[in-house]
Amino acid sequence: MSLKQLIHTVSLKLKISEEQTIEKLNIIAEIVKNEIFYKERLTHYDIGDLTGNVIINELLREGMASKYLSYECEVTDSVDFAIALSEKCNHCGEELADSPTHIIREAYTLNKPFLELIGQQKKEQLKKYIIEDYRSNLDRLKNRTHKIIPFLGAGVSIPFKLPSWKNLLLQLDKGLNETNREKYIDLIQQGDYLKALSFLKIYSGLYQNEQTIKKDIKSIIKSSYIKEPNNTFHNILDILKLDTQFIITTNYDNIVSDYLKDYRGEFVMPQNLDTLDDLQDLMEEDTQKVIHLHGNADMYNSMIVTEDDYNKLYREEKIKDVLNGIMSNKTLLFIGFSFKDQYFKDLYDKIYAQIKGEHFIIIENLHPFDAAELLKRNLIPIGINVDKEEENSFVKAIRTVLEELY
Ligand SMILES: [Zn+2]
Repeated sequence: MSLKQLIHTVSLKLKISEEQTIEKLNIIAEIVKNEIFYKERLTHYDIGDLTGNVIINELLREGMASKYLSYECEVTDSVDFAIALSEKCNHCGEELADSPTHIIREAYTLNKPFLELIGQQKKEQLKKYIIEDYRSNLDRLKNRTHKIIPFLGAGVSIPFKLPSWKNLLLQLDKGLNETNREKYIDLIQQGDYLKALSFLKIYSGLYQNEQTIKKDIKSIIKSSYIKEPNNTFHNILDILKLDTQFIITTNYDNIVSDYLKDYRGEFVMPQNLDTLDDLQDLMEEDTQKVIHLHGNADMYNSMIVTEDDYNKLYREEKIKDVLNGIMSNKTLLFIGFSFKDQYFKDLYDKIYAQIKGEHFIIIENLHPFDAAELLKRNLIPIGINVDKEEENSFVKAIRTVLEELY
């Protein structure tokens, strides 16, 4: 019996990647553990009938799961389990086969060796993707899973073909003369994105008007977005599965809301600071909500794009009220930010000034030297190994962290 063989066979039969197969096996193991379950239970977790059937059949064939018959005895109004139809009802004594007074359904359990193999496979994933030095930080975060609020940066939007902050700005280099274009690119390379935008507003013949910048940003976002139907290629669903009341983002795109609609089966209006009128109401509703601190592209006037916008925003009472309202006793988990960017450092300092507390950040290939700088800011790093050669490595590493938090 081998997990590898099982993964291989299931992926062939379902025509999905081995990675997706592992994901599905993990979900099943996570949901049902060692309990007796019915197939229908799996459909609530994005595992359809066909997929469920194939996986269960292969598990049974490999001896990794066992099949039971659950029966409801209408004579005595009791429920019980049997292995075969030739058995007699434990309650009324009638043989189960062809009995009109017993409702019989198939039920299953996952066998211990399968659960152990899945557990082992998870351990290997953790070892591969979490930099050992930061394991204790991850454990610390695991102790506060009910307090986490994800705070998303541009990195989570990359699998949807959206440009990073940097590449977005590089596309806005219009109306600049040669010298000014060089200076503009220089500011972007330093990660000083807001300053770059302020620069653009002053020196670009095209972007003197802020509205024009915002409209162009909106159209770049709208035209770049490609919805990714394969959930193993991005982390949005992994983030939604944390089931947190709020998801905060500085991204202008509405990707999270788009996937939230699929996940919840209803559209929840994304919020930005202008639309957040009644914070009390918002706190009382128990639907998941996305809050765009810097506005969103659908309402391009709400977008914070220049240094002036930005400084004004963080001076106002509103952001203080919102952050404090949402954040009482909560822990932020920053995902998809680069600590090398001046942009993030400023942002974090501004937010930290309003909320204090201890927060976490997932960072790829983090050197201990940089970790010290983060810790000085009360930002606890979880360093992940991202291998540029491996496809989808960043997404897989983040998923490995998030799976520890469910
Ligand atoms: Zn009976």
